[in-house]
Parts: sequence; structure tokens; C-alpha cells
Amino acid sequence: MADGHVVTVLGPRPAGSLGVVDAHEHLLVDSPGLRGQEFTDPDTSAAEVLDGKATGIGTIVEMTPIGLGRRPAGLRAISEATGVPVIAASGYHRDAHYPAGHWVYGLPVEVLADRIVTDLTIGMHPADWDEPSRPLDAARAGAIKGGASYHHVSPAERRRLEAIGGASAATGAGVLVHCEVGTAAHEIVDVLASAGASVERIALAHMDRNPDPEIHAEIAARGVTLEYDTVGRTKYHPDSVVLDLIEAVAAAGHLDRLMLGLDLGTRELHRAYGGGPGLRYLMTAFAPRLRRRLGEADAARILVTNPARFYALPGPGA
Ligand SMILES: [Zn+2]
Repeated sequence: MADGHVVTVLGPRPAGSLGVVDAHEHLLVDSPGLRGQEFTDPDTSAAEVLDGKATGIGTIVEMTPIGLGRRPAGLRAISEATGVPVIAASGYHRDAHYPAGHWVYGLPVEVLADRIVTDLTIGMHPADWDEPSRPLDAARAGAIKGGASYHHVSPAERRRLEAIGGASAATGAGVLVHCEVGTAAHEIVDVLASAGASVERIALAHMDRNPDPEIHAEIAARGVTLEYDTVGRTKYHPDSVVLDLIEAVAAAGHLDRLMLGLDLGTRELHRAYGGGPGLRYLMTAFAPRLRRRLGEADAARILVTNPARFYALPGPGA
């Protein structure tokens, strides 16, 4: 069982109490980079969460960062309505999600970092930090999101990753970074580490978009956690590819560096908004196959233990 606590939108909670964790999810999104794919209604999103909860999802890590329609009041409403703990994120995405002229391109790294630390330690800004003087929400963020481009980190992304690495060093919070098609992994880790982040607090998302077990074992050997989220994304590859990948990375000795999420980042992926596969997919379609491949105990390490450890902060929480 994981020690310490996690910070949910309704307050701290023992890390050993989370159950199955969807380690990378989205419940409310409104991004300029995803026009037409907004999903912004807390009631509809709560229905999606209840559908996932009925299948066995215990906790959701909501990884929508600053600037993509992150709404802490809506996340609190969803968690209160469903009884499902929600860990929210601070941090910044890759350039594709910010229009030219957005403040993320102009502000000093210290200010970018300070906004993350404020979200994590005092309360999240209610509306993407667009009017900084607005009163903060009661909910704190419990994790940090980052992002980079395809096979490279742009100069602006590098500044944001430096801010993210510094904020992780200051707070101990875990960082999950969007790797475009699973690329630029080592470069992302290098930037975060040089800004002070511990590699043990770094996880890389979408790595299974590039399902190469040799590369994954090499990254995991640095102490970095790999988060897979193409489960149910049949347009990329069948789930058997992800199962094969998990088996290979586990066989290389890195079972404890694996986490799973669904990353339903667009409206069309949510059943409650009329699409699919929806939150129920992880536990109904994928988990039974994972258990058959790995056995119950090792499957539970990926679904329960590893994400609890990764998102945990020391102590009981204030
Ligand atoms: Zn995502």
C-alpha cells in the first residue's frame, strides 16, 4: 500500500485509499487546439464518471492544465456528485494548445512557476489564470501537467518545462508530460531534471503511441514512470499491442514504472456526450485481459499501487 497522501479537489486523502486509479483523464476541456471537441458540462461529465465508477474506477486524475478550460469549481461539483475522488492538475501543455500572443509565451519562467506553485499550495485559479487578480478556488491541484512537440521541445515549451520542473522541486508534486506520439522522452526528462525535478517524480504520457519496449525499458531505467493511454484507441492499434508492450516492459524489470489512463481528451470519446469508448472501457474491456496476462497481483500494481505511489506526497496532508 502506498504511503503518504494525495491532494484531491475535495482535500487530502490517504494514498492507500484510492482503489483503481485512472492516471490520466479529462472531465472538462475547452481548448483552442481542440475546437468542436469541447466538453464543459459538469452534470454530463458526472454521468460519465458514474458510469466508470460502476465498473470499478476508484479515483480519477484530471490532467487538464492551465489554458485548456480547467474549471476547479466544476471538478469539485463532479467529485461531490459522484463520490469519486478527483486529483486536478496545474501546469502547461504543448504549444499547439495556446494561440499566438497567449501570456504563456511572454511571462518569465519564475512567474510561470509561481502560478503552478500557487495552484498546488493555496488554491487553483478559477479560470486558467486569465485574470490573475480573481480569487482562488478552494481546491488545490495535486499534480502537474507538461507537454512537448513531436520529436522536439520548442523554445517556449522548454521555458514552461523549466517552470514545471522548478515547481515540482519546490512542492514534490508529480509531473505527467504529454509526449507527442511518444517522442522526445529523454529530452523532456533532461529539461525537467536540470530544473530540479526528481526523475522519480516524472511520468511520461502517451508512450504507447510508440510501443517500442526497448526504448521504454531504457526510459524506465532512469527512474521515470511510463503512462499508457491508447487503451481503447483502436484507430491507433489494437489493445493487444498495449498488452504485449506491458508484458515486455514488465519482463525487463519495470512493472513498477507503469500506469494506465484513458485520456478521454475530446468530446467524442465520452459516452455521456454521445461517443465512446468512455470511462467504462478500462475496467470492462482492458483490465480483464491485463489480469489474464499478468495475474491479479501484478495487474493491481499497475492499476492501484503504482499511480498511488506516483501521485502521493509525504505525510498525512494538511
Ligand atoms: Zn491528456
